[in-house]
Amino acid sequence: MKRLRIAIDGPGGAGKSTIARRVARALGIAYLDTGAMYRAAGLAAARQGLEPQDEAEIEALLETLDLTVVFDEEGQDICLDGERLGDQIRTPEASRWASDISRLPACRHKMVALQRRLASGQDLVMDGRDIGSYVLPDAEIKIYLDASLEERARRRLKQERELDPQATLESVARDLAWRDRQDSERELAPLVCTPEHHRLDSTANTADETTAAVLAWIYSQYPERIRSDQETGGANGG
Ligand code: C5P
Repeated sequence: MKRLRIAIDGPGGAGKSTIARRVARALGIAYLDTGAMYRAAGLAAARQGLEPQDEAEIEALLETLDLTVVFDEEGQDICLDGERLGDQIRTPEASRWASDISRLPACRHKMVALQRRLASGQDLVMDGRDIGSYVLPDAEIKIYLDASLEERARRRLKQERELDPQATLESVARDLAWRDRQDSERELAPLVCTPEHHRLDSTANTADETTAAVLAWIYSQYPERIRSDQETGGANGG
């Protein structure tokens, strides 16, 4: 069968990770959450007591950073110096650190090299900001998943409340808007919807509906990838 590398790009809170994980499961291929890699790098810097402006120290840290990706039943986890990080990378502080550290070319070069290596040996779904435009410019499928800022903030709040009881709709929306701007305006590999991206807006849709729309687009381009219900445990139904 022909290779299938699927890039899902878009702003934070648009539902990329949920959709990417489900699409990967339906297709029986791997899923790589690239945002988690930047979050882990940010957490490593925060643990060293560094600040985002300490560029030289961060670059030195990145050179020795031992970061690996573990693929498991749930999708993936990131290991830092052998420690599985789990949800520690999901706090608002980790989100801000990820956006700050991802602007540094040294960080992007390191992460992109690892992402390309992971994509070289297998079919996969990769979600992020620059996957279709920079990491895998020749990906077979490129999706740009968007949603209104208000809806994205509502979804993020649900996730963040468990980790940060102080979070409000306003604080989450402010954080997302700040990250959108920083991610879109950085010089190297910014967030962008290229003409090759198939753009979908998930504002009014459930995760099931968006997953179905993404799969329908993939099957329209690659009908040989349609799997039977038996293989997918019903994940292709509906
Ligand atoms: O997707 P997620 O919200 O986990 O990403 C966290 C941060 O990592 C983003 O705000 C962005 O700054 C950065 N990122 C990136 N390139 C990617 C994925 C994430 O710059 N491919």
